[in-house]
Amino acid sequence: MAESGRPSVRTQKVVETLLIGGESEHADAIEAMLARSVTMSFSVTRGDRLATALDHPDAKSAELLLLDVSRAADGLDLLTQTRLRLPRLPIVVIGNTDDEDFATRVLRGGALGYLRSAELGTRLLVTTVASALESHRTRLQLNTTRERARHLGGHDPFSGLPNRTLLGERLPQASIGVVHQTALETGLRAAAEGGELVLHYQPQFDVRRKRMIGSEALVRWNHPEFGLLSPKQFMPIAEETGLVVELGEWVLRNACIQNARWQELGHPGLRLSVNVASQQFIEPGFVETVAGCLENTGLAPETLELEITESSLLEDVEATVTALRELKRIGIQLAIDDFGTGYSALAYLKRLPIDVLKIDQSFVQSLATDPADATIVQAIIQIAKGLQLTTIAEGVECQEQLMLLGSYGCERMQGFLFGRPVPAETFERWLEHPPFRWSREDGSVER
Ligand code: C2E
Ligand code: MG
Ligand code: MG
Repeated sequence: MAESGRPSVRTQKVVETLLIGGESEHADAIEAMLARSVTMSFSVTRGDRLATALDHPDAKSAELLLLDVSRAADGLDLLTQTRLRLPRLPIVVIGNTDDEDFATRVLRGGALGYLRSAELGTRLLVTTVASALESHRTRLQLNTTRERARHLGGHDPFSGLPNRTLLGERLPQASIGVVHQTALETGLRAAAEGGELVLHYQPQFDVRRKRMIGSEALVRWNHPEFGLLSPKQFMPIAEETGLVVELGEWVLRNACIQNARWQELGHPGLRLSVNVASQQFIEPGFVETVAGCLENTGLAPETLELEITESSLLEDVEATVTALRELKRIGIQLAIDDFGTGYSALAYLKRLPIDVLKIDQSFVQSLATDPADATIVQAIIQIAKGLQLTTIAEGVECQEQLMLLGSYGCERMQGFLFGRPVPAETFERWLEHPPFRWSREDGSVER
C-alpha cells in the first residue's frame, strides 16, 4: 500500500479518498486527475486489494471510495463485499465496460456513480465525485423527501454547477442514471404528490377502416429542474423503490378519468391502453383497483386495455394466469406489450387469457430492410390470427412499414407516422382533426 498526501496550496476541505483495485498505472492516472482538480482537494490512500486496503489506518477516516473494478473478474461481487464492509461510505465505481446493464447493476448495488475508464478525465471524474458526495450528504442530512428534492434541484455546492447542467452533461453516457439516481429517487416521491407527473396520449388506428380507435397513455415526469423526463429515465427507479405501484395507480386513475371525458365529448367506445408494471400486476388488490377505476368513471370495461410486457408475464406463469383470469372476469382487454422481445412465450400463449399482441417496434423498424424481421412479424401476425388475437404494430414511422404491415394482415397500428404521444389537449383536437389525411387510393397517410 502506498500513500500519497499531496502538497496543497488550496483552502478547500480535503476529501480523504480510498482508491482500491485496478492496475497500478491506472491508479496513478486517476490520482493525477484528482490532483489536477481546481475545485476540490483530495488526499488519496491506495490499496491494491480490498482486504488489505480496509486494514490501513487511513481507511477509517475515508470519506469517499473509488472502486476500480476494471481488473476484477466480477466487479459486482467486489462492490457487494465493499458495501458490506463499509456500509456508510459513498462509492464511485470505475469500470471498463460501456454496458448500460452493468452500470445499472452497479447503481442498484449501492454505488453513487459509475464511470468508464475509457472516458475518464479530470472534469468528469471530479464532477461525478462531487455529485456522489453531495447525494450522500443529502441522504444523511435531510429528512423529508420534499426537503431532499428541493435541495437536489438546486446547485451543487462543490462544483457550483446547477444540477440540470450535471444531468445534461452526462445524458448521452451510460453512467448518467447512476450519478442522478438519488436526485431522481427522492424527487420521484415528491413528484407523485406534487403534480409533476403528466400523461401523454398516442393515437392508435385501425388502418383498414381508416379511423382512430383510441390511445395509449404514456407517463412523463415534468421535473422542475431537468425538464420533461421520459419513462425510460425514471421507471427503473420507480420499480426499484416500489414507487411503481403508487405511480401506476395514479396513471390508471387519471387516464380513465381522461378517457371517460373524451367518450362523453362524443367519442363513445374510444379505447384506452394503460401500461402495467409487473409489480403492480401481482400486488394484492390490483383487480379491485382496476374495477374501482371503471366504476368511478363509468367506463365500459371493454374500452380499457392493460398492457403487460412479455417478460413480466413470464416471471411467474401460474400466478400470472390466475391474475389475468381475474382481470378478464371484469371484462377488460389484455395486451402483451413488446411482443417478440421476451422469452418466446409461445407455449404459454394459448393458456393466457389475452386479447391483443403488440408487435415490438424493434421488428417494425427494420421491417423493410431486414428479411428476418419481416419473417418474424409475419409469423406473429399468423400466430395471433390462429389464436384469434388482435395484433397492433408499434413504432410505425414510414409509409413502407404501413404498407408492408397492411399486406401481412395487421390492422391496428401506432407510431410517429400517425402521431407522437401528445398532451391531452392536443389529443383532444386530434379526435376532431387527425394530424394527417388518409390517401383515398392506397390507404397511405398524407401530411
Ligand atoms: P411502450 O409501452 O412500448 O410504449 C411505446 C414507446 O414507444 C413510447 O415511449 C412511445 O413514445 C414510443 N414510440 C411510439 N411510436 C414510436 C415510433 O414511431 N418510433 C419510435 N422510435 N418510438 C415510438 P415512451 O413514452 O418513452 O415509453 C417507454 C416505455 O415506458 C413504454 O414502452 C412503457 O413500457 C413504459 N411506460 C410508459 N408509461 C408507463 C406507465 O404509465 N406505466 C408503466 N409501467 N410503464 C410505462
Ligand atoms: Mg405500451
Ligand atoms: Mg411496446
